Amino acid sequence: MTVAGSHCRWEIAMQVHQATDAHSNSNDPTPSPGTITVLAGRVFDPYTRAFLCAQAITVDPRTGLICDVRAQTQHERESAFDSDVQVVDLRDATVLPGFVDAHVHLFLHPYAETSWEDQLTKEPLVERTVRAVNHARETLLAGDLGTEGAGDADVALRKCLSGVHALVPGPRYYIANRALVPTGSYGPKGNLRVNEEGVQGISGAEVADGVEECRKAVRRQIGAGADWIKVRALLLLVLVVAYAK
Ligand SMILES: [Zn+2]
Repeated sequence: MTVAGSHCRWEIAMQVHQATDAHSNSNDPTPSPGTITVLAGRVFDPYTRAFLCAQAITVDPRTGLICDVRAQTQHERESAFDSDVQVVDLRDATVLPGFVDAHVHLFLHPYAETSWEDQLTKEPLVERTVRAVNHARETLLAGDLGTEGAGDADVALRKCLSGVHALVPGPRYYIANRALVPTGSYGPKGNLRVNEEGVQGISGAEVADGVEECRKAVRRQIGAGADWIKVRALLLLVLVVAYAK
């Protein structure tokens, strides 16, 4: 859930990141004990592509699920509320379902600061992990509640961002683990041997050529925890560029 307006509480955003479960209605406006009620001036409904006015959203803080979306009662529309842990007053704001960024790299930072090769080969994994934790939090605060990333360390980061006992705030994290790449097509070049492995995070990719190797690599990545399989078919591009020269 994303708030477009004057209020933004990452605690709520973190809890309410399963917004697809929001499309339900209830005739009973009494919130269950322990739930959070978000009073929204307007809610965007992606199913009907319309804005619904004066809605109340009930959230279970234990699971992070939205339990109910309904019209506000007269009391909720007209009474003064102090925003607290039980009621979040967003009656002057528009609330949106969370956005999904389908391609991010939380372990990387702008290449204008440090080149891609230097980030991969010179930055310690601890530094990269701290950066990733910061990026995860900033991504959530930006309203992005679902994200796809790639790399070995992303498996562990996904665990830290997920579930009732999440360690740090962040979006739901779907990972591709290591991308599949053809021999010689991808990875830091120059002072390193192509496809050299053994240094954690050196390329974030797995080399696979041909059907059988790719089939095996896909199984390996799924076994390692991948939600998605990422393929970088860069060799064709390299060949085209080389041929053009
Ligand atoms: Zn990528």
